Amino acid sequence: MSSPAVTISQRGVERVVSGHVWIYRADLLDANEAGPGAVVCVQDRKHHFWGQALYSSKSQIALRLLTRDERPFDGAFLAERIATAASLRRQVASEAQAYRLVSAEGDLLPSLIIDRYGPCFVIQTLTQGMDRLKPQIVEILEQTFPPRSILERNDVAVRGLEGLPEQKGTLAGESINEVEVEENGLRFVFDLMDGQKTGGYLDQRENRLAARPYSRGRALDCFCYTGGFALHLARQCDSVLGIDSSPEALLLAHRNQQLNGFTNLEWKEANCFDFLKAADQQKQRYDTIVVDPPAFARQKSQLEAAWRGYKELNLRALKILNPGGFLITCSCSHHVSEADLLAIIAEAALDAHRTVTVVERRTQSRDHPILLTVPETHYLKCLILRVL
Ligand code: SAH
Repeated sequence: MSSPAVTISQRGVERVVSGHVWIYRADLLDANEAGPGAVVCVQDRKHHFWGQALYSSKSQIALRLLTRDERPFDGAFLAERIATAASLRRQVASEAQAYRLVSAEGDLLPSLIIDRYGPCFVIQTLTQGMDRLKPQIVEILEQTFPPRSILERNDVAVRGLEGLPEQKGTLAGESINEVEVEENGLRFVFDLMDGQKTGGYLDQRENRLAARPYSRGRALDCFCYTGGFALHLARQCDSVLGIDSSPEALLLAHRNQQLNGFTNLEWKEANCFDFLKAADQQKQRYDTIVVDPPAFARQKSQLEAAWRGYKELNLRALKILNPGGFLITCSCSHHVSEADLLAIIAEAALDAHRTVTVVERRTQSRDHPILLTVPETHYLKCLILRVL
């Protein structure tokens, strides 16, 4: 085989045996001649072959396993992996116009994100190795679909850990910044070039739909971004108020509202912590509340602060919910497990003197697959709770 070989320690071997796909720098004994981003053969001290991986010369995650097979990881192999990912989407997202076509480790394509928004594809290549494969990825997409436009949203801080620049722009096809697509029968404009993430939070698509049947009366969508949950609730509710700290997001939320002809929606630019506190002090009451904050624990060291943040938000939300009302509450920090989130809500419920039942325990949409032996791929939790 022509790929350079790298040698890992016994602890590295144990990681591979446990089914994980990341091997840390501390478990790398010898990178030999491997260049930044090379596809390498992974071996132990006794030259036993363990698989092929993307090598990073900078990141603490030195190796990301691509395959445990000896077949060379070439363009055809890459195309097959993308085709396998696409076949799952035909099964679980056949009705969706916007969905995640490739979800990195969850599709055995570590550090590669491909989001589809109708005719436009947005990619992120987050490691040296995946970044090197970018031209091949673009070519595969052009041959398979063909897209009207392929953009990159590589303007993300994690690329810094790899020594890669932050950049965004059109890679192929037309220069399209905005696209209008349908989600669950509603129209949404996505700003692919300047919006958050790749334009939208596609991982909540199924949860937005799931929230709808529980919603009624006076509703609040905390951390509403461009109105994803709020618009889903609008048909069922008398009124919906969406809160977000981003004025750009709220401009799009307003446009999305108009696009769908709703007149019972309002938007407010605010910090949700402050808003909820004031709402409680003013004795405001709601029948349906969505709480979908950004990740509070991006690292394990932030877990304690994250716990406090989630508790405060949920405590305040529970306090202002009418009896019989529903709270749809989420966490996208993979460090906060579902058990943690349930424990946080239990504390919050006791402090708020509310009796709460768990009606649904949900996770990210199925086009964001969870790789069983890589816990990091199970990051989103969404609980649907009823206050008695
Ligand atoms: N629910 C949305 C996604 C929310 S993402 C959807 O379904 O599309 C989290 C949002 O929280 C982002 O829009 C971000 O602008 C906003 N945000 C972050 N911190 C905030 C804060 N303290 N108060 C209000 N909004 C905040």
